[in-house]
Amino acid sequence: MSFSQTAPVLPVVPAGAPTVAGLLKDISDVGRDTSRGGYSRPVFSTAEADLRTWFIEQAGRRGLDVHTDANGIIWAWWDTAAGVRTDAVATGSHLDSVPGGGEYDGPLGVASALVAVDLLKARNFRPRRPLALAVFPEEEGSRFGVACLGSRLLTGELNADKARNLKDPDGNTYADVAAANGQDPRFIGADYEALQQLGMFVELHVEQGRGLIDLNQPVAIGSSILGHGRWKLGIAGEGNHAGTTLMKDRRDPMIAAAKVVVSIRDTARKYKDARATVGRVQPVPGGTNVIASRVDLWIDVRHPEDSVTAALVEAIGLNAQVLAAEEGCTAVLGAESLSPTVHFDAGLRDRLQKLLPSAPVLDTGAGHDAGVLAAHLPTAMLFVRNPTGISHSPDELVEDRDAEAGALALADSLAGLLGEAGTLG
Ligand SMILES: [Zn+2]
Repeated sequence: MSFSQTAPVLPVVPAGAPTVAGLLKDISDVGRDTSRGGYSRPVFSTAEADLRTWFIEQAGRRGLDVHTDANGIIWAWWDTAAGVRTDAVATGSHLDSVPGGGEYDGPLGVASALVAVDLLKARNFRPRRPLALAVFPEEEGSRFGVACLGSRLLTGELNADKARNLKDPDGNTYADVAAANGQDPRFIGADYEALQQLGMFVELHVEQGRGLIDLNQPVAIGSSILGHGRWKLGIAGEGNHAGTTLMKDRRDPMIAAAKVVVSIRDTARKYKDARATVGRVQPVPGGTNVIASRVDLWIDVRHPEDSVTAALVEAIGLNAQVLAAEEGCTAVLGAESLSPTVHFDAGLRDRLQKLLPSAPVLDTGAGHDAGVLAAHLPTAMLFVRNPTGISHSPDELVEDRDAEAGALALADSLAGLLGEAGTLG
């Protein structure tokens, strides 16, 4: 009689085949940032170019047909016997990083896509519709300030002229930097022909929160990307001398700002699933011995329901007016940007839930190329557990076994999606 019986482990990875951890180890020295820690792999840097070369080589090894389009997106095709590129299932992610970013944000999805191809080939799988692996450039927007630049160009959501004139922190335009890196900037922009080849897109990504830690699961299916927006609150008071102005005579906007910051946290806590952050405060003129004449606060607010975001922001604005008035100040709130919530395609999500029955469904507060593509074709995401819950930081982490579970989940998803002809509802 045995007290501990271990279930037989199925050989999910063919012996000697590359693993996600192994592929990531191949590139673990590329773009290391010795001052910030982690990785700095901005678009058009040597590090990013090395990663792109690595991907092209890996895709070639797998017999995929690789080309780079006018927007710098790399496509690697696994064609069907018919060789017709329509109604394709696309998967992939990005290889660029934020300054001092983690090892997994982007590259995990790319490496998992390569391993998923290996797993499908090991099963002698024959796709009934084509598979396209995609690598999108400048997802983080860390060089030219626009996140998801490649997918926004592809879909026409970013005007080509606007993109050509974007500048990096050194004042170089996107057009000049692209040209210096072998990409002809005259041809960037919407590519509806490329988009029409795609039937759907599934992006695997490291989770950038704690959802899977709390659920004790390695892989989740994405439901939505939280709507997010930025608002600027200007609080005006009376600038004066820090030494000669008695406390009772002050109209100090910094005091009002301090009360407002606390009230924003307290207000956000009243709305389930809401996040509100003051990450930036700027006093004017900003002198140690000067009572500020005005203080500007930038507020980031996120919630799955855009109507709740609007209600929360309205409450923040009203509270700010009351708290500013208590200090003899005035407060004006203005919107700077708003990206509505992206709900991923319900039909594709239902299909993935059948293919991955143990995977929970989670939303995310972070933006992705999948969020841009979602307006143009059925789109889904898979998230892989991050045991630190930290991202955009060297502390971002994925355990090796979770990385392989993610690739297996992606392979199972692709097998289901590629095996069927026709489109999903
Ligand atoms: Zn990412």
